[in-house]
Amino acid sequence: APSIVWLRDDLRLADNPALHAAVDRGEPIVVLYLLDDESEGVRPLGGASRWWLHHSLRSLDESLREKGSRLTLRRGAAAAELPRLVDDVGAGAVYWNRRYGRAARDVDTDLKSTLRDRGLVADSFQANLLFEPWTVQTGQGQPFKVFTPFWRACLERPEPRQPLPEPESLDAPATAAPSDDLDDWGLLPTRPDWAAGLRDTWTPGEAAALDTLESFATGALADYGDRDFPAQEATSRLSPRLRFGEVSPFQVWHRMRGDLPAEARERAQGFLREVVWREFNHTILFSSPDLATVSYRPEFDRFPWADVPDREIDAWRHGRTGIPLVDAGMRQLWTTGWMHNRVRMVTASFLIKNMLVDWRVGEAWFWDTLVDADEANNPANWQWTAGSGADAAPYFRVFNPELQADKFDKHRDYIRQWVPEVDDDSYPEPLVDLKASRRAALDAYETMRRST
Ligand code: FAD
Repeated sequence: APSIVWLRDDLRLADNPALHAAVDRGEPIVVLYLLDDESEGVRPLGGASRWWLHHSLRSLDESLREKGSRLTLRRGAAAAELPRLVDDVGAGAVYWNRRYGRAARDVDTDLKSTLRDRGLVADSFQANLLFEPWTVQTGQGQPFKVFTPFWRACLERPEPRQPLPEPESLDAPATAAPSDDLDDWGLLPTRPDWAAGLRDTWTPGEAAALDTLESFATGALADYGDRDFPAQEATSRLSPRLRFGEVSPFQVWHRMRGDLPAEARERAQGFLREVVWREFNHTILFSSPDLATVSYRPEFDRFPWADVPDREIDAWRHGRTGIPLVDAGMRQLWTTGWMHNRVRMVTASFLIKNMLVDWRVGEAWFWDTLVDADEANNPANWQWTAGSGADAAPYFRVFNPELQADKFDKHRDYIRQWVPEVDDDSYPEPLVDLKASRRAALDAYETMRRST
């Protein structure tokens, strides 16, 4: 009886423990991707993520075909659709790699017992986090709320396992399982086609992900000390790769422990520390599953947000605030589906603190437009900026986007790249007065504090 490997946030053949287990079992393998926008509580993907998913699945299917297999595509609620596929192919085992959001975990737990009750093998594996959330805890057995002790505790854990090799060939069942056609899923935009900038910027898929890791390790990693300067290509751009699991954190970890150019070697640990922020945020999501909707520090759900007209929020969304660094970032995001980390902090802070808009509004826009939109990283970072999150920046530390530009984009290269009209008369006046709005933000914070 064939094995089913159910891929989700792990669109890769190398270092894929679920796939590995299926190969070890020795029976023919059906490799499944199930588009589930029906299960209760599963967050529907944003537009940029759907674009990425389409191309990454296409690429995965090509790699599978080279190995003698193919990707089987199904759509629907996993609780119904997976057992249906089990019946269609007469499967004897189902394998998958774990995910960490509550709704997804509930689906997986129920399925595991349903399948086991029917006498199938149903096993899940650790693949997408270096440290499972329940393994890194404080001395009191609680989840960490502060990053640095979390990072230290990770370093005290046994070294993450070595990545697994990709299977040499994959044996598929004689008759292919019934599959949807990817083009029928409508994951790509039609009219308007907003994805031209994404196509120019990215090549989704495992091969490109591994190339990105390799060229970063031997190239830009040496400049990682300049990671705060948005005009410089000093970061890895691995975020959508890690989000969709085109590369695993184990591969990243061990590449950083491997052979590196001398100048890169001293940067590797600092880089891994950032990678472990991703682990920290997933650990927070694991214990606070409503991270995208509920403030981690509950007093912030009494924050007196302003009632801002949609027209002004749209000016932020589309980079027309009249604040150059904010506009540059928002345009980079809209065009390429990615924004430099420093500028993410500045644009988010501007929306939350200078415009007094609820962080959830910004989180939702990023969710829709980022190719790396991540269930843990996106809300955790928005809450970090808002001051409502775990180990967050204190609310009263308000970024000044002009000073941030002076410091991190001194020659305005980044600003000019994205806002070429910045010095012309046509460029809008600032949407808000930075000084007055900062004052208003601090007053609003005091109001919240007094009401708790
Ligand atoms: P690098 O500096 O090369 O870092 C390597 C990897 O480490 C990243 O790919 C990422 O997986 C991880 N990482 C780095 N910084 C962070 C961080 N602050 N938090 C968590 N993980 C981190 N990152 C996402 O992956 N998805 C999101 O949806 C997301 N939303 C964000 C929203 C806001 C408001 C802010 C301020 C940050 C957000 N980030 C998010 C974190 C960070 O900006 C991106 O991970 C980073 O810019 C990706 O670029 P890179 O891969 O070149 O980063």
